[in-house]
Order: sequence, then structure tokens, then C-alpha cells
Amino acid sequence: MKDVIIVGGGISGATLAWQWFLQGKSIHWIADEKQSSSHVAAGVFNPVVLKRFSPIWKAQEQLDFIFPFYKEVENYLKSSVLEMVPVWRRLHDQKERSTWIRKSNRDDLANLMITEPSDTSISGIEAGNGYGIVKHTGWLNTMAYLSDSIKFFQDRNEFIKASLDYEKLDITNDHVSYNGIDAKAIIFAEGNGLRNNPWFHQLPLQGNKGEILIIKCPGLKLEQIIKSSVFLMPYREDLFWVGATYEREYTSAEPSDEAREFLISKLETFLKLPYEIVDHKSGIRPTTIDRRPFLGSNKDYKNLYVFNGMGSRASLIAPWASQQLLESIYNGHQLPKEMDIARFDN
Ligand SMILES: Cc1cc2nc3c(=O)[nH]c(=O)nc-3n(C[C@H](O)[C@H](O)[C@H](O)COP(=O)(O)OP(=O)(O)OC[C@H]3O[C@@H](n4cnc5c(N)ncnc54)[C@H](O)[C@@H]3O)c2cc1C
Repeated sequence: MKDVIIVGGGISGATLAWQWFLQGKSIHWIADEKQSSSHVAAGVFNPVVLKRFSPIWKAQEQLDFIFPFYKEVENYLKSSVLEMVPVWRRLHDQKERSTWIRKSNRDDLANLMITEPSDTSISGIEAGNGYGIVKHTGWLNTMAYLSDSIKFFQDRNEFIKASLDYEKLDITNDHVSYNGIDAKAIIFAEGNGLRNNPWFHQLPLQGNKGEILIIKCPGLKLEQIIKSSVFLMPYREDLFWVGATYEREYTSAEPSDEAREFLISKLETFLKLPYEIVDHKSGIRPTTIDRRPFLGSNKDYKNLYVFNGMGSRASLIAPWASQQLLESIYNGHQLPKEMDIARFDN
């Protein structure tokens, strides 16, 4: 009997698979590999809210966790998935520059922000007020992480490409069974697919549509991720990510002309080189009403778990959050109450 069945093929599903594997637990991972939010994500991780210069929730806990976690994964994959790249926040005016300096001296931000703004000039980028540099940043190569992880578990006969049919799941209090696979528990990590889940669909998942462009800009030599009103991130030779939009009210999940125009208009406020758009993608982030993940078990069946609501920061939060879930299941630790779905009981 397996310790757990994991459902979902995005950053959450892959991270759960690794977390359980690294702790010596046996898994069976089911994912339909449909295009998802994770397939659109640039994978940037950054511990500071760059609009108002504040630390993200549990920034230090998450940072302490991701580097050893992804390093262990890379050792098994024998390839690199996490890259450290500095995030440079383009400062809009002198007032913002002063705010940056002041905030970087706060106790909770001193380890995350470099106080002195940089006036280094990057050819092709307009930044008259300099940049604020964030520490401990980079990007998860999401596509490599997902495809290499699937291959790794496929080779061990622990991954199957399929859509889980909820009606075919046989559940008792200490056992679940699906298509001949027996396990002690199941964890659902279906992103926006949560809405179809009979045991967790009532959780207040919001969904937030995001769109990005991939541009080709041969003249641009960029070793940093530039954050202005949009991100500009080096991807591959001459290719760069530009994103993203945030839209809570949307009628279609497909890329839209409005978002494309919005991204272009923001990009061109600071990119002063010719470029061409080579791709335009959209995805729905699994966001929650209180911006905290959904972790926990079903009331009727304690061996049915949910892992969702990673919002716009899955690459940073998922390793730490999956550890919290594992500790709560096997070692009786309390889930942080902000993430525990019990917060919606009333
Ligand atoms: C434009 C954009 C840019 C973003 N940029 C970043 C970024 O830079 N950094 C960052 O950390 N985050 C970013 N995000 C957010 C990030 O994409 C999400 O937090 C993350 O993808 C959520 O991962 P997930 O695995 O929970 O859900 P998903 O990625 O949605 O994956 C869920 C998967 O489960 C599968 N599934 C559903 N139901 C079933 C079923 N019944 N059986 C089998 N499989 C099923 C789905 O098909 C899907 O493949 C971005 C998002 C968008 C849209």
C-alpha cells in the first residue's frame, strides 16, 4: 500500500511528490498534464512585496526552506532547476527612492533589501531614479521542474498521466483506492480544478487571470530581473518574459488583446530598444480570498487532504507549505492557522 496518492501536475503536485519522496514516503502521482497556471508562470521568487516594500508573509521561513529543498531535488534530477538572479526594482521617483532607503533599514526588511539604490546603467533601459535591489531572489525553471520531475517519477512507475475521475475513488477512513492503486491517503493539488472536487469545492478559491508575453530583443543584455510596473526577465538567448497582468473578473481564460496592449504600454515606459513579441500566454492563478494557501483535511474523511491556493508565489511557498502539511499528517504538528482550511469552518 502506498503512503499517498497525489493529484495534480503543477508546481504544487510536483512539490508534494518530492516532499513525500525525500521523507521516504511512497507515492503514486496522478496528473493530466493539461496546461495550467504553472505552465505560464515565470517562476520568479522574491520575498518582498514590490509595490509597497514590505516582507511577504513568513518570508524568512520560506527562504530558509527553498534552497536546501530544490538542491536536493536537483541532486536527484542531475540538472539545475533553480537559478539565483537579482531582482532590481526600478524606482519611479526620488520619493520612492527615499522610501526604499528608509524601509530597508527596518528590522524585518534589512535582510531582504540592499539599502543603497544602484545607479548602474543598463543599456536600453530607462531608469533615471535608479534601482532598489532585493536579496535572495531568482527563478524556478518551471517547465524543467515539471517535466523532469514527471520523468523521474515515471521511471520509478510512480507517475501516471490521467485525469482522476472522482466518482471512481473508493474511500474509507484509513484507506483510498483508485484504479487498482491502494493508498493510506490522498492529497488533491488541482489548482483551479479544485472547483470540480466533491470534497473541497466549497473552499473560497477566487482565481486570478494572468497574462505574459515572451519577447525577442537581441540588443538587450540583461543579467537581472527588472521589476517596474511589469517584470522583464531574461529567459533564453535574446528571449525575455514580460508580465504579468492581474484580473479577478474575467470572462475567458484565453489571452486577450487588452492584456497584450497593457503589457506593451507598461514595458515601453522603460524598454527603449526594438523587440518583437514571439508568444503570448495566459493562466488562472489559484488565489484565495485571504491570500493564504488552503491546507488541511476533509471533515468526514480525515485521509483526504487539500493543498491549494498558492496564489502568485508557488515557487517560493510550495516547498515550505508542503513540509507543514507533511509534519501535520505524520508528526501531529499543528498547521499554521492562517493556512489551515479549518479557518473557514464557520
Ligand atoms: C501569468 C502568470 C505568471 C505567474 N508568475 C509566477 C511567478 O513568477 N512565480 C510564482 O511563484 N508563481 C507565478 N504564478 C503563479 C503560479 O503559476 C501558481 O501559483 C501555481 O502555478 C499554482 O500551481 P498549482 O500546482 O497549485 O496549480 P496549477 O498550476 O493550476 O496545476 C494544477 C494541475 O492539476 C491538474 N488537475 C486538475 N484536476 C485534475 C484531476 N482531476 N486529475 C488530474 N490532474 C488534475 C491540472 O490540469 C493542472 O495541470 C504565475 C501565474 C500566472 C498565471
